[in-house]
Amino acid sequence: MEQQVAVSPAKPASEFIVGEPRQHDLWDTVRAQIDDVAHRLNLDPGIHAILRRPERELTVSVPVKMDDGRIEVFAGYRVQHSSILGPCKGGIRYHPDVDLNEARALAALMTWKCAVVGIPFGGSKGGVQCDPRQMSESEVCRLTRRFTAMILPILGPKRDIPAPDVNTNPQVMAWIADTVSMLEGHSVMEIVTGKPVPLGGSLGRAEATGRGVAIILTEVLNRLGRQPSDTTVAVQGYGNVGSVAASLLDEMGCKIVGISDVSGGLYSPRGLDIADINQHVAHRGYLLKEYQSSDVESISNDELLTSDVDVLIPAALEHQIRADNAAAIRAGVIIEGANGPTTREADDILRDRDIIVVPDILANAGGVVVSYLEWVQNLQRFFWEEADVNLQLERRMIRGFDEVWDYGQEKQVSLRLGAYMLAMHRVATAIGVRGIFP
Ligand code: NAD
Repeated sequence: MEQQVAVSPAKPASEFIVGEPRQHDLWDTVRAQIDDVAHRLNLDPGIHAILRRPERELTVSVPVKMDDGRIEVFAGYRVQHSSILGPCKGGIRYHPDVDLNEARALAALMTWKCAVVGIPFGGSKGGVQCDPRQMSESEVCRLTRRFTAMILPILGPKRDIPAPDVNTNPQVMAWIADTVSMLEGHSVMEIVTGKPVPLGGSLGRAEATGRGVAIILTEVLNRLGRQPSDTTVAVQGYGNVGSVAASLLDEMGCKIVGISDVSGGLYSPRGLDIADINQHVAHRGYLLKEYQSSDVESISNDELLTSDVDVLIPAALEHQIRADNAAAIRAGVIIEGANGPTTREADDILRDRDIIVVPDILANAGGVVVSYLEWVQNLQRFFWEEADVNLQLERRMIRGFDEVWDYGQEKQVSLRLGAYMLAMHRVATAIGVRGIFP
């Protein structure tokens, strides 16, 4: 019987580059930011030109045998923005919106993120345009193994080290590490971070990004002279980042009044019972809309973003805070758990309204900090206690926050601009010192 070949119904990657652009293209936002900061830092035009292009890009077509026997072909990407400060580091995302421009933007953000928290890594990102919620586990496994084999020429523990991102997790990292180990003929667990602990993953890695978000909020409250117990918080996105941040902040005494996931949101002005919600999520899957409790109201994601809170933590996807809702945001502090959750226009509105925004490249750097610690442990073949990992994370997050806060005050710029200026200054200086090969 002839094999039926189906091309994935997802949009071809090129549509976003040569066809009609998405309304808010994150890559445009990131590049505009690079241009602005290069101008402010008075960067050499040649170094500016280097920073506004990714170092290397790989686009692959990933054929996968589906459970019903059909072959589907998915678009996959790995983009390395910069390896100036060290091996490239960045997540792998599985989502229908993954495209080349998104990978470029997120790779550049990884370069700045590593630089701003002083980690010796460059930036990369990748992913596959697919909807894993419509796929079986074995289909996702075959997709992961084929994708890994196709991008392996540019991966390596000293070249480029993937990690989990949206819709990927330690299991996906285990499949990547196993695939590479089989192809290389020896164990290469240090090819990825965010692995399961029995394979050499670091204790504390799964919670690291959310923990970092909570550490940053604590530092902001310290600077503002506020107590966690007087602070109400709303969190958009209840996955790896959002659920851990909400749980730790709840433990620290903050009142978590709103949370949401892709299914919708929950709101209670008296504070949500986070422990009870976590039990629901553990037993019933991620859908928050199915959670019921007497004094909890269902709200939409838009309502969550504009709810009456002191602190808003966007921890879902990019471009959630836009020109059309930024003026309605009531939080005085925004901690960007997600990558790129605020559009450029919205950022201007928030700045004019004196809302403190801790930018993604600093606020969600906890994941890459512990990825770095995992990589160090893997290379040394020596593993640390969780308390040691958390202590190192806390020190690095606080140091990164202090440096950005003080730089912002000194230069009279926002935290976002301060973080970008510091990060780009560090990378540009390294390019200058290394020189241009040959
Ligand atoms: P995840 O897949 O574990 O969780 C994503 C959450 O967002 C889920 O609760 C999902 O239901 C929700 N969501 C999806 N679409 C939504 C929508 N339209 N409205 C509201 N909620 C929606 O992903 P994650 O690992 O928590 O990552 C979240 C964000 O944090 C992403 O921007 C990611 O790039 C960023 N990030 C993650 C890490 C990490 O270590 N996991 C590190 C740095 C940054």
